[in-house]
Amino acid sequence: MSTPPARPLPYRVGFGEDAHRLAPGRPLVLGGVTIPGAEHGAVAHSDGDAALHALADALLSGLALGDIGQYFPDTAAEWQGMDSRLILARALALVRERGYAPGNVALVITLDRPKLGPLRAEIARSLAALLGLPESDVGVSFKTSEGLAPAHVQARATVLLLRAAGEP
Ligand SMILES: [Zn+2]
Repeated sequence: MSTPPARPLPYRVGFGEDAHRLAPGRPLVLGGVTIPGAEHGAVAHSDGDAALHALADALLSGLALGDIGQYFPDTAAEWQGMDSRLILARALALVRERGYAPGNVALVITLDRPKLGPLRAEIARSLAALLGLPESDVGVSFKTSEGLAPAHVQARATVLLLRAAGEP
């Protein structure tokens, strides 16, 4: 996909959002972590990891590179059931090719059940490893829909991109 080169700003901000419907009999994966005790999981073409989808879109949007739907169309059989860590890795590679790297990220996951608080460190650790960042640069917060959307998972992510030293 060809996009015009981004202006070489020292910092660029990206934002992404993703949501999936939840249904019984599927694993619930968030931030690359399979959530133990989840009664339902995301209905999706891929593994339905809303956190990684929001984060990948945030990375792409920071450089005006479109969204993951353009790179991983949900009609393509080859992406059926795919591990969303590959989607994040692709977005990260596109960002790095353009001379940028993530500085810090902030992620909000909205889910009614199960409570994710006990998994905060594990999810942050997983995201940090996937992004090549220290855990102190990965902020993860959890919200519920207050019962408004009990069969729904949503994630929102903001990322700060830093231009690598020595890039033109
Ligand atoms: Zn998604």
